[in-house]
Amino acid sequence: MYLTHLECPRCGREHDAGVPQNLCDCGSPLLARYDLAAAARAVEPERFGLRAADLWRYRELLPVADPRNVTTLGEGWTPMLRAPAYGAEIGVADLLVKDEGLTPTGSFKARGAAVGISRARELGVRRIAMPTNGNAGAAWATYAARAAMGATIVMPVDAPSICRRECVAAGADLRLVDGLIGDAGRQVAALVAASGGTVFDAGTLREPYRLEGKKTMGYEIVEQLGWQVPDVIIYPTGGGVGLIGIHKALLELCELGWVSDRLPRLVAVQSTGCAPVVRAFAAGEDRVRPWADARTVAFGITVPAPLGDELILSALRATAGTAVAVDDAEILADLRDFAAREGLLLCPEGAACLTAARQLRAGGWIRDDERVVVLNTGAGLKYPETVDVSDVPVLPA
Ligand SMILES: *Cc1c(COP(=O)(O)O)cnc(C)c1O
Ligand SMILES: [Zn+2]
Repeated sequence: MYLTHLECPRCGREHDAGVPQNLCDCGSPLLARYDLAAAARAVEPERFGLRAADLWRYRELLPVADPRNVTTLGEGWTPMLRAPAYGAEIGVADLLVKDEGLTPTGSFKARGAAVGISRARELGVRRIAMPTNGNAGAAWATYAARAAMGATIVMPVDAPSICRRECVAAGADLRLVDGLIGDAGRQVAALVAASGGTVFDAGTLREPYRLEGKKTMGYEIVEQLGWQVPDVIIYPTGGGVGLIGIHKALLELCELGWVSDRLPRLVAVQSTGCAPVVRAFAAGEDRVRPWADARTVAFGITVPAPLGDELILSALRATAGTAVAVDDAEILADLRDFAAREGLLLCPEGAACLTAARQLRAGGWIRDDERVVVLNTGAGLKYPETVDVSDVPVLPA
């Protein structure tokens, strides 16, 4: 294993990666650091192509020392699908959708859970707890079950009911709160504090290894394009872990010497019903102010005050990217349009990215010759209510 330590991106302090860690004393999330020079000597990028089609193909760049701790359901190496019909319609000829809907548990949260649970197991954690908008809880409960670890999951009552069922099926201790993810977070903080160190807080960016799982999307995009970077990557941003992770992966690939091009411009997409990152980006601020009355059909991105705000905003600025808020009605219209033209039923968060691509192209921010990668972060099948079937005629028998 090439993991060396954890580093605070805000104050620079180093932390021991050999014991379970949460935030830095200054309140910032921690980032896992590796001996990348040694990793580059140990493996050549061409070798990855000979390995299994899952995210563990990048094991030199992941934080698990003993392969027996790897907890897997086959996550990663999802397809990069061309979308020529929809792309022609919006004027982006080279449009690609990375379909995370084929990931175990039906969302890309499984990447973070697989690596987070594997590392927690390696460090001796017996029970995790976390607040969630649904998919993360479902994924962590599932991987915890596979690692014979306990899981306490707290989610809003309005979270997709399938996620609730996944937690119960996995034998997790599930609790519902009549509020938003921040309210769930306060419940988790209280129960972790009362546990006397027996329950590990695995909330978004409160531990450093979920990010390591999600960064593999960045490696895969580059490997699937033949070790080339696209011009633009569009990501539906809630807690921002995927965006921060893709940025981290791109920087690591540069340091490894495996990509040399200019980094892709990263785009954070939010809903007009919850757009704290978009507001802070537009105002030139480094931190977000909590969004009041957050509400959107794209439940996975309903995060009024993301903990990783500084990292999200700096990733957008460092790559000359941008942040866009899109309307729920347009998200649902693009979801229908995309499914009819391309045959892929997106999750609402993924559809939000296509709405953003359409708007950014119309406004000239995306040029017509650019290669654009959109993340479809979950399976459309988890959200059957996004397609209205009430007007389908019923024939007499
Ligand atoms: C969690 C989630 C997101 C947002 O992911 P972050 O990394 O927290 O920004 C987007 N889409 C879906 C389907 C999700 O479950
Ligand atoms: Zn710090």
